[in-house]
Amino acid sequence: MSATNRDGLAAPGPGRRTRAVDVLVIGAGPAGLAAAARLAAAGAGTVEVVDREEQAGGVPRHCYHSGFGLRELRRPMSGPAYARHWCELAAGAGATVRTGVSVTGWAEQPGRGTLALDTTSPAGLERITAGAVVLATGARERPRSARLVPGTRPAGVFTTGELQQAVHLRHQRVGTRALVVGAEPVGYSAVRTLRGAGVEIAAMVTDQPRHQTSWASGLGARLHHRVPLLTGTTVTGLLGRGRLAGVALRHRDGRTTTVACDTVVFTGDWIPDHELARLGGIELDRGTRGPAVDTAFRTAAAGVFAVGNLLHAVEPAGTAAREGTLVAVPVLRHLADGAWPGGQVPVEVDAPLRWVAPNRIDPRGPRPPLGRFTLRTTRTAGRLSALVISQDGRFLHRERLRRGSVPNRPLYASADWIDGADPHGGPVVITAG
Ligand SMILES: Cc1cc2nc3c(=O)[nH]c(=O)nc-3n(C[C@H](O)[C@H](O)[C@H](O)COP(=O)(O)OP(=O)(O)OC[C@H]3O[C@@H](n4cnc5c(N)ncnc54)[C@H](O)[C@@H]3O)c2cc1C
Repeated sequence: MSATNRDGLAAPGPGRRTRAVDVLVIGAGPAGLAAAARLAAAGAGTVEVVDREEQAGGVPRHCYHSGFGLRELRRPMSGPAYARHWCELAAGAGATVRTGVSVTGWAEQPGRGTLALDTTSPAGLERITAGAVVLATGARERPRSARLVPGTRPAGVFTTGELQQAVHLRHQRVGTRALVVGAEPVGYSAVRTLRGAGVEIAAMVTDQPRHQTSWASGLGARLHHRVPLLTGTTVTGLLGRGRLAGVALRHRDGRTTTVACDTVVFTGDWIPDHELARLGGIELDRGTRGPAVDTAFRTAAAGVFAVGNLLHAVEPAGTAAREGTLVAVPVLRHLADGAWPGGQVPVEVDAPLRWVAPNRIDPRGPRPPLGRFTLRTTRTAGRLSALVISQDGRFLHRERLRRGSVPNRPLYASADWIDGADPHGGPVVITAG
């Protein structure tokens, strides 16, 4: 049996320094930095935010287009400027922002006593104990390997995040002719990045019947970006040895074709970066694959909160930052009274809905952050479709989806029904009516 110290934790092992903070925030993207800024400004004590990257700021650091800050800061900003804004706010409020620090695991299962996390960085190994932990580790696109695309393993295969890091952070040449897989907004970000790097776009492909942006029509999107859009089309294989030579496609009508290209970018298809939550045995939601959280960002482990795209992969940066700001109140309350509620009611979805966040409620507790629930669907539906909310077969609420629904785009449900839910009842279920 390993030795334990007076907190009951396994001994940290040789060469690992131990420190204590009041709040440890993991992930210095918009969500984590906003949380650190608000907590430090509100007098939460020592607030530290750590990130494994060399620079703080999260995904926006490598998004050079200007689509950030419009709603929450009321000015259009590039990704790097937006990242700097939150870094300055966090540091200015008195939070410590440490980069090049990877959090590798928990000293013991969280929720059972002391919260302690192990980290590694060029400065060495540490164990950081905290009164509260905020997980803000974001989300990433599934790489080609996880999408089980057959074929060879050539160079020239990226996700949007990898592409943007190669182009904007490492200033690498990425290729001459590219296929973009996926037609949600991030796919168009990939198109912009490729264009900026002087790469010709062969086509965009999506297995969906249309693109999934907010533009009114496929024609609008095609004209806007002058990119051929192949709908109802799937990638069946990658070709080429050493360097990518082409991508094999199957079209809706059964035809198969090959697009000659030396670069392919797999976009969208997000997975929350839930590794730390999983390592800690923190309950994950079946739908989102992020930690299950209630309307105050509380996970199932006492003292552990979660915010940002870890909860809903993915929403705009402003939503992640807003959640970071909003988590401060429940964190401060927990630091003050140590309380942690149990026995919350799960909120689930039925197909074709994919997930809902937050996904736990206490009908007597706070309303959801931002006053709404966020959902995703797998099916395109017309303007007259609706969401129906019930519990144990009892009708709670129905609301029309004024704009219909499209896969990979957010859908929102109001929180007006929460008071009618039974705190001792079964799961609340949301269906598309
Ligand atoms: C290509 C692209 C274009 C986008 N364009 C826009 C746009 O125009 N407008 C907009 O509003 N939004 C845009 N977004 C979405 C926006 O970037 C995200 O919503 C936002 O970054 C989410 O913030 P976050 O803090 O939740 O996560 P992230 O920004 O992903 O930050 C998470 C951080 O956690 C760190 N981390 C993870 N695990 C660990 C660990 N174990 N130890 C230490 N650190 C860890 C990561 O290094 C990362 O820095 C875009 C996203 C992409 C990918």
